[in-house]
Amino acid sequence: MDFKSFKDTIQAAKRIVIISHVNPDGDTLGSMSALYQVILNNFDHTKDSVDMVYNGIIPEIYKFIPFLDEAKKPEQVKDELYDLAIAVDIAAKDRMGDSLPLYERTETKMNIDHHKTNNNYGTVNFVRGDACSCGEVLFDIFKALDLNIDKKTAWGLYAALLTDTGGFRYDNTDADTLLKSAELIKLGAEPAKIARFCYESKPRNMVLLHAHCMINADFTDNNRIAGVCISNKDMEKFHASNDYTEGLVEELRRIGTTEVSYVAKEVDENTTKVSLRSKTIDVSKVAQVFNGGGHTFAAGCTIRKPLKIAKDKILEEIRKALG
Ligand code: AMP
Ligand code: MN
Ligand code: MN
Repeated sequence: MDFKSFKDTIQAAKRIVIISHVNPDGDTLGSMSALYQVILNNFDHTKDSVDMVYNGIIPEIYKFIPFLDEAKKPEQVKDELYDLAIAVDIAAKDRMGDSLPLYERTETKMNIDHHKTNNNYGTVNFVRGDACSCGEVLFDIFKALDLNIDKKTAWGLYAALLTDTGGFRYDNTDADTLLKSAELIKLGAEPAKIARFCYESKPRNMVLLHAHCMINADFTDNNRIAGVCISNKDMEKFHASNDYTEGLVEELRRIGTTEVSYVAKEVDENTTKVSLRSKTIDVSKVAQVFNGGGHTFAAGCTIRKPLKIAKDKILEEIRKALG
């Protein structure tokens, strides 16, 4: 992939905004932080003219990622005009949530991502389905263009690679992932500290919510499918913020008999957000039935139906896919 247009596009822009996806995870946040720093540290003309925008809330466990306290909400920048908007780790435009109007009204739209279902929606696209994370795509861009990666940038990139590979365990982990992570450690990322933030800093009520969900989970089709519905009532019971369900769908997949896991979560009375994980079948295809997408073994979609109906629909499609 030719990365030269990355440099040219940044150089041509006076005001830049970096956009992360709704329900932000370690990859979109780590990538946003790293890109913010690399632009400010390597392109003198951008001084004080780069913004980061996030949707919803930044999960407690990711607040350690450098400079996220400087990130703004879409409503804080609604009157700003940028020359360049850069989407990081955003599989499809609607995953920008309330930041989408900002992206749409900006003339130059960059799209840096690693989802195979990404349709190159930007005017400048760096989409590499073979990369483990958006952080890896950024690492390759920075290295190819000889851009300086300082210690705090390395922290952001390492957090992206670590979390999107499930702690270097998923099938997107390969020799390159580990070699690049090793290089990030040499550049100042501290693996034990970062792992502690990402994996051993959960709010207590989040763990209790997960326990409640695991006890109430549905195991069907000879236990090949494991899933749970989460209502807003469940969320209230545990004083849970929106991000507290993160990781639950992976916990359901962790069970030996599980081939496909799902979490169906009530957004409002007519809208349900579904997360899918798999060990065998391509769940991005299941998500695409509902206009969602993602990766082979991790995908998601939003269904405009009440919780229980959406759950039945997703279960039906999972069953079809499992054969
Ligand atoms: P999640 O279950 O929300 O963690 O998402 C799992 C994967 O699917 C992530 O890589 C997401 O980027 C992707 N994904 C989730 N929802 C959608 C959607 N509506 N459209 C496209 N990709 C999605
Ligand atoms: Mn992501
Ligand atoms: Mn990602």
